[in-house]
Amino acid sequence: MNYFSTRDKSLKFSFKDIFLRGLAPGGGLFLPTEIKRFNQDELKDLSKLDYKELATEIIFNFCKDEIKKNDLKSLIEKSYSSFKDKEVVNLRKIGDSNLLELYNGPTLAFKDIAMQIIGNFYEHFKVAKDKTVNIIVATSGDTGSAAIAALNGRENINLFVLHPHNKISSVQRKIMTTTSGSNIYNVAIKGSFDDCQKIVKELFNDENFRTKINMSGVNSINWARIVCQIVYYFYTYFKLKKEKISFSVPTGNFGDIYAGYVAKKMGLPINKLIVATNENDILQRVINNGEYKPDKVKPSISPSMDIQVASNFERLLFYIVGQDDQKVSLLMDHLSKKGFFKLDESEIQEIKKDFEAVKINDETTELIIKNINDQFKFIVDPHTATGFGAAKKIKDLENIVVLGTAHPFKFSDTVKKITGKILEPPLHLKMSLDKKEKFDIIENSNSQIKNYILSKIK
Ligand SMILES: *Cc1c(COP(=O)(O)O)cnc(C)c1O
Repeated sequence: MNYFSTRDKSLKFSFKDIFLRGLAPGGGLFLPTEIKRFNQDELKDLSKLDYKELATEIIFNFCKDEIKKNDLKSLIEKSYSSFKDKEVVNLRKIGDSNLLELYNGPTLAFKDIAMQIIGNFYEHFKVAKDKTVNIIVATSGDTGSAAIAALNGRENINLFVLHPHNKISSVQRKIMTTTSGSNIYNVAIKGSFDDCQKIVKELFNDENFRTKINMSGVNSINWARIVCQIVYYFYTYFKLKKEKISFSVPTGNFGDIYAGYVAKKMGLPINKLIVATNENDILQRVINNGEYKPDKVKPSISPSMDIQVASNFERLLFYIVGQDDQKVSLLMDHLSKKGFFKLDESEIQEIKKDFEAVKINDETTELIIKNINDQFKFIVDPHTATGFGAAKKIKDLENIVVLGTAHPFKFSDTVKKITGKILEPPLHLKMSLDKKEKFDIIENSNSQIKNYILSKIK
């Protein structure tokens, strides 16, 4: 099986290649030539597996020419040994609602689930054996810490984490900046997450620089991350034991929910995927009105979703325009030159077969956190709260599962303000946050970042 680009179907890359590169040459995103579709009998067999076995079966489909199944299985077992639950994720009832807790990994957000495996992929594929790999990642708060936990101290790997200065929660920042080993560089960019992501994309498209520093990336545009996230959609379906289910997904870069879309393509009986956004609602607008137009980022109480350029949407776009790479290129070109593109009515309808989208503002998010605490003595974080809010707004849908994307401790200041409760750090948080923070503050400038990186890897 090969991988091609959303903007160029003639490209052919292996899993290892696309894992290392992250972004396709020319700026597109990688997609696989085949997506395995399970039949009823196969689904039944899958339903008997535990989480790690299921992960092995699902992920194997996307890299089977390049890793032995047994090796993949041990890699997955090793990756999830630091999680609180043996089953990695935890499905629970909050009143009548279903919540899938995805935040029981070492840095308390769902990003750990993919990132722990990614860290071990670097080792398995021996990519840093002869030459140091420099990984550059942009973070809206949670990807960075998950990447640090997965790559801290690894030989021949440097990790540069770009976060938007003063725009993430203090616990999010501390998890990144108090624990870093000598191969980790935290950089606070004077700008938004979109600025950080833009710099990372520019560096990837700079062929000279990319080769010079042997650059790699672990943002959610990396297909390997999507693949790891498909697993919990299957797992939840088998646990819930209903004929058809829907998911409400707090969304920023469209990575997590896109994994649900792939799960559906693989034959999982998913009814609707509900995109929950905060005030940064570009996805809500494009899905309901067809206009994809990044606005200025508005800081919110769910900072990991303060994103206006939802990169993974391009992967959906590819299928919506009939797998036409030229059309995707044209639309993306229009976006970069004119600042938007527009889908026609039939394309909107095509998206709506699988997706719903709801915006939940900060005020409503706060109310949801308060109500869930009042009624059920349970605390959800602000991101997860938008998922609850969106699920409630969609009528006539049964068996909705809300994805819990972060542990509330990561947003303890917000939680305290709303509920008065002071949260203790959960035991599975492996880091102590009292140590001195280490990070550098840099202008929102591509060339300054380049110079910074070059100065560190001399
Ligand atoms: C990253 C993140 C999201 C958004 O996920 P995407 O894959 O970017 O859509 C939502 N909630 C939390 C807590 C996150 O860290």
